[in-house]
Amino acid sequence: MVRFALALAIAAAQGVAQTPKAGEIVGYVPDPRIPMPSPWKDPGYLQIAWIQSPNYGQRPVGSVVDTIVVHSTVIPTLEKTTEAFQRVASQVSAHFTIGKDGSIVQNVSTFDRAWHAGVSKDASGRQNLNHYSIGIELVNLNDGKDPYPEKQLQALCGIIAEMRRRFPIKQIVSHEYIAQPPGRKNDPKAFPWDRLKYFGLPIYTGENHG
Ligand SMILES: [Zn+2]
Repeated sequence: MVRFALALAIAAAQGVAQTPKAGEIVGYVPDPRIPMPSPWKDPGYLQIAWIQSPNYGQRPVGSVVDTIVVHSTVIPTLEKTTEAFQRVASQVSAHFTIGKDGSIVQNVSTFDRAWHAGVSKDASGRQNLNHYSIGIELVNLNDGKDPYPEKQLQALCGIIAEMRRRFPIKQIVSHEYIAQPPGRKNDPKAFPWDRLKYFGLPIYTGENHG
């Protein structure tokens, strides 16, 4: 029941026919509700398991996906994070969750609205970033000490590159930066932002008191 694909085949996994032009919203795609595999097995480096979260909705008509939001889970494993996103009561999800070994779980279609940002505002003053963003969770304790291993960073860079191919991405932000009121969130703590500079996009981190 679990679909695996190479990271560079994310578009194929979601159906190339769905790829919208900038500013265009595609038709609603039924939720496949793929269950958690039991026993759990991490997909492996740059492999993707799409395990659909029930916690998502449609993006508002006319919204353009232009922002990458980077998070850390606090939850210690890919399995436990996926479990949390499977629970309706949690009311949270992300588009992708990346394990420490570079394993990827897709939780929500990128064409749908995942529930990761909460009350939020970006540098331009635009609110409700869930409308406009791709949410990517990194498995990390968010204690400022837990490292982000190389394979995890490579998987993140692969996803961002793929999202830029699909959407007019114009900025990368930390959850900490967009969370309102400032200080409500501090993830991803101690993330090495220099690793994302080569994309040539503005990167917003720290607290946004603007
Ligand atoms: Zn977060």
